[in-house]
Amino acid sequence: MALFNLMEKIVDLKLEKYLPEDKGCCPCEQCRSDMKCLALNKLPAKYVNTEKGELFSRVDQLMVRQSSVDVDFAVMQAIEFVKSKPRHDLAKKGG
Ligand SMILES: [Zn+2]
Repeated sequence: MALFNLMEKIVDLKLEKYLPEDKGCCPCEQCRSDMKCLALNKLPAKYVNTEKGELFSRVDQLMVRQSSVDVDFAVMQAIEFVKSKPRHDLAKKGG
């Protein structure tokens, strides 16, 4: 048994859904983890004590049962923010 932040998984799923739809958004590793980080900081953690096999069915249940409007909003805000200030540019130019 291990602790998982279910919200992390939900944000992952949302990014997978929104990123391909958003043409202006960079899907690189750096930007993606920045978006995930920003979104998670705005959302409440949802810890579950579960085995790995259970995780995905629980995510599905949670997303169907609860309104995910807040999650959508936080993820979209994070995407917009990273779009306007992508940190991969800083790394490439070296300041
Ligand atoms: Zn990027």
